[in-house]
Amino acid sequence: MDEDDFADDGQLGRDAILPGISEGEIVVIRSTRRKKNISAYRAGGRIVVSIPARMSKADERAMVPEMVAKIRAQEAAITMSESALATRIDELLLQLAPEITIRPAMVGWRAMRERWGSCTSVDRTIRISDRLKGAPATALDYVLFHEAIHLEISDHGERFKAILARFPQAEVASAYLDGYEAAETALAMPNELKKLLNK
Ligand SMILES: [Zn+2]
Repeated sequence: MDEDDFADDGQLGRDAILPGISEGEIVVIRSTRRKKNISAYRAGGRIVVSIPARMSKADERAMVPEMVAKIRAQEAAITMSESALATRIDELLLQLAPEITIRPAMVGWRAMRERWGSCTSVDRTIRISDRLKGAPATALDYVLFHEAIHLEISDHGERFKAILARFPQAEVASAYLDGYEAAETALAMPNELKKLLNK
């Protein structure tokens, strides 16, 4: 039907990126390597949908929203609600630092690229980077516990370190967080994708 919209393979390199739809967080990549299947994944806060280069525009319009809905449903299933985050902080403090009796007034997810979490002790607000949605429980717990200690102790001094050291799997959690950051740097977006997103 939409034959004239087919990509001209002769003009394309491997995985060439053609102008697709890019509505805020959604990026469509037409891949010449991809023959049939369509895949979608979360990358750096965006949902990337990879489709075969030859897929018609009509099929793209039909398939892409379906794939995006699937990713969002998966994420909703594994993402802790904000009240669940607050409950988890309460559990961690009771278990590991019962001397801290302050509780956050607000715990929320926030799009943060530079930090894993933040704590504003004045209004007792804790923010957790949405990069931790779907992270292993240990990594999320570690960040929650770190920020929760800040309710009582604002710096990273000896007292802070002594309490944080009670976290049972700090090394495993740190390894995940460091690995995630290393991967983010290594997989920095290719220039073509940046251009597409900045249009
Ligand atoms: Zn800190």
